[in-house]
Amino acid sequence: MKCRHCNNNLTHIFCDLQTCPPSNAMVKMDNVNFPETYFPLKVFVCEKCWLVQVDEIEKVENIFNNEYTYFSSYSSSWLAHAKNYADEMTERFGYNQDSLVIEIASNDGYLLQYFKEKKIPVLGVEPTANTASLAKEKGIESIVDFFGSQLASEKLLGKADLILGNNVLAHVPDINDFVKGVKLALKPNGVNTFEFPHVCKLVQYNQFDTIYHEHFSYLSFTALKTVFEKQGLEFFDVQELPTHGGSLRIFTKHKDDTSKEVLHSVANMLKMEKDLGVNTLKYYQGFQEKVDKIKCDFIQFLIQCKKGGKKVVGYGAAAKGNTLLNYCGIKGTDFIEYVMDASPYKQNRLIPGSRIPVFHPDKVKDSKPDFVIIFPWNLSDEISQQLSFINDWGGKFVVVIPSLKIF
Ligand SMILES: [Zn+2]
Repeated sequence: MKCRHCNNNLTHIFCDLQTCPPSNAMVKMDNVNFPETYFPLKVFVCEKCWLVQVDEIEKVENIFNNEYTYFSSYSSSWLAHAKNYADEMTERFGYNQDSLVIEIASNDGYLLQYFKEKKIPVLGVEPTANTASLAKEKGIESIVDFFGSQLASEKLLGKADLILGNNVLAHVPDINDFVKGVKLALKPNGVNTFEFPHVCKLVQYNQFDTIYHEHFSYLSFTALKTVFEKQGLEFFDVQELPTHGGSLRIFTKHKDDTSKEVLHSVANMLKMEKDLGVNTLKYYQGFQEKVDKIKCDFIQFLIQCKKGGKKVVGYGAAAKGNTLLNYCGIKGTDFIEYVMDASPYKQNRLIPGSRIPVFHPDKVKDSKPDFVIIFPWNLSDEISQQLSFINDWGGKFVVVIPSLKIF
């Protein structure tokens, strides 16, 4: 395998999660007798440019199709985050009715709706037609396509005052072409922001469950700086965010745009990463051992529950839980009876690989489990508050990452 940025031969393995099916390929009850396709899930680090990455085994068109079941609008904390972003950016850069805000991977319009409320023109780019049609119901037009240099030069050339993308950069197989597209679509004084989970948090907090096939790259500021500079874009600010267990929001502009000052945050972040050792192989070694300890602890917990006659269910049928369950080899309903999820698109389906059924969260009130495992640990406060009534029958919550915790 070659590095998707610098074409270097990749030989250093960061983490090997063996095999699992694509994490969003929920199994319909009708398809229960059909097999699923498993793909290797191995993460490499490039010792030339420090991009952490998985191989593109499943074609991206097969992953982000009309069966894609991720709808952004289902998390209230994520909506609040989107609204704050729209407020902050509008105030900082003075967008108005003459501006154009383009979001890449605009999903169901969960974020652009807040710019639209301010009468700022918006345009989404979203490859999945079913999510784009939900955006249209909110009055948000989307180009149903994958973003890249071709789309940018044909339809978006020099149009955007702001191009943003949240949790998309890591999902792009050809990151060079994608960033080239940003360069093409941006107005001469335009601003680009991307938010993505910071690989340093992944390493620090054992977030191996954020590794899945749809997630091609695991990004450091150091690695990305090279990727953007190669396309003529310059970082001028970076913010650390608590979302997804610790994300970065990068701000980029055309290299020759002198209207914006490069803030100290850029040099500070580079120094912080250098101090951690992001540009050394040592930094990435030893991660697998930490992952395997979590696997052991989790399996041990489930076995103890089973032997003690305790009832265990899960919350959140999303990629994180799927990676964890598959890597830990949990199958069927013998350890975890079901998983709750608020999204109707996931209910009454089976989790890929582990084939645990997914039901409406109300089911928990009847089944009164002893333990509810919260798979999206980044939302554990929100979810444990919503389900605080499980305390009435002595139920407890469990998170597995960064280490097993019962509360
Ligand atoms: Zn590389």
